[in-house]
Amino acid sequence: MIEDSIYDTGNEAFRDRMSNTTAEGKRNWFYVSKPPKGKFTKWRNRLNFFYFALFFTLPFLRYQGRPFFMINFPKGEFIVFGKIFWPQDFFLFAVGMITMIVFVILFTVIWGRLFCGWICPQTVFMEGLFRKIEWWIEGSPTQQKKLDQMPWNWEKIRKKGLKQLIFLGVSFLIANTFLAYIISTDELFAIIREPISEHLTLLTGIIGFTLVFYFVFAYVREIVCTTICPYGRLQSVLVDQDSMQVSYDYVRGEPRGKMSKKVENDFGDCIDCKKCVIVCPTGIDIRDGVQMECVGCTACIDACDEVMDKIGRPQGLIRYASEREIRENKKFVFTTRMKAYSAGLVVLLGIMTYLIASSKSISANISRVKGQLFQELPDNKISNLYDAKVLNKKNKEYPIELKVLGMDGEIKMINKHPVLKKQGLTDLTFFVILDHSKVLKRSNSIKIGVFADGQLVDEIKTTFLGPFK
Ligand code: SF4
Ligand code: SF4
Repeated sequence: MIEDSIYDTGNEAFRDRMSNTTAEGKRNWFYVSKPPKGKFTKWRNRLNFFYFALFFTLPFLRYQGRPFFMINFPKGEFIVFGKIFWPQDFFLFAVGMITMIVFVILFTVIWGRLFCGWICPQTVFMEGLFRKIEWWIEGSPTQQKKLDQMPWNWEKIRKKGLKQLIFLGVSFLIANTFLAYIISTDELFAIIREPISEHLTLLTGIIGFTLVFYFVFAYVREIVCTTICPYGRLQSVLVDQDSMQVSYDYVRGEPRGKMSKKVENDFGDCIDCKKCVIVCPTGIDIRDGVQMECVGCTACIDACDEVMDKIGRPQGLIRYASEREIRENKKFVFTTRMKAYSAGLVVLLGIMTYLIASSKSISANISRVKGQLFQELPDNKISNLYDAKVLNKKNKEYPIELKVLGMDGEIKMINKHPVLKKQGLTDLTFFVILDHSKVLKRSNSIKIGVFADGQLVDEIKTTFLGPFK
């Protein structure tokens, strides 16, 4: 938890309710101003462009005839950057989830809510797309407010109608792309080509997603970040006085006040212009101190830097800094705790990378058929009956062969000309036949090699039963 800062206005009333709630408990609708084109806004615009390009093109990319990226939960098929994962790879998913949770915790401890402002799709789409459409159609915050307050006339109908129509269209586009990540573009295009009656479930899904996205971006907006998102709620227990945050330098800025050439004063650098407040998408005043509603979007940094340039003071009155940095006027310290967390994170990422790299495309499970012991054959031979389940994640069929490894032995398949199905499980049943002289105990360890297209793809250890000696 953040310690009380030395900057204390004595007025903590702003913490009594959320910034988007009025004293009567109603929604306080924000009219957000465009941030000036400062360095952070420029970088965020570039990143947003990259995210949009990635989001809208990724489901269309194909690799070896299948989607490059697909997360098909209903069918349990997952393709991540061309690599196929099956429900059998659940442990990878579990390790991935743990890595992600630890990553989020460590990242937040060091960098505060940077993810929310720069990477989270909610902020990227809201501030990078929907807000821009709103500014384009309805103008500045003052013009938007005027439009809302005026009675319904042709101008209001035209502007409001156009905005909502474009919001719906963009939400429809996002919903379709989102669905393409789940069911692949092939199935999505099938809805367009084939009669709608054959795809009623998917169509309902598209309409449902469209309405959800529209509702979120047209109405819910910052409530997602300030009230709904669980990650946002976690902030208060994750950040501390050493975490980097968008912070107001109260040591430099206070006491705040309007500049005047006529009157002598001992004001700090903050001229109380409130430019940092009107650009804030969550409607807070960062000068009140670190607040849960801040999503770290940096719009207030650019707004204040522009003001500082104009009044001839150094930039950075609002900047990325830790509470301790500001309070003690120190440089950012990479604390021992941060180092330990980062080391833990590197180890987890290493494990995750190893597990993904070493996961086999073809793997087998072999076990003796239950209830069967052994059969004694002529020529002094003994046989055991086995079942094999071979999983092929590749998008190609292979001729398959099994061999006893490390000793003389014969395998007699029950299946004729077995072929490994593409992207699926193949069941095989076979006998292993060994010479009596090799079966020394009741239970003997043997190794079976699985060959696909002549290549050894998996080795399985199992037991071979013989008569009591
Ligand atoms: S933009 Fe800067 S100078 Fe203006 S009110 Fe905010 S902190 Fe003070
Ligand atoms: S306080 Fe600044 S960084 Fe935080 S949400 Fe508002 S504008 Fe963005």
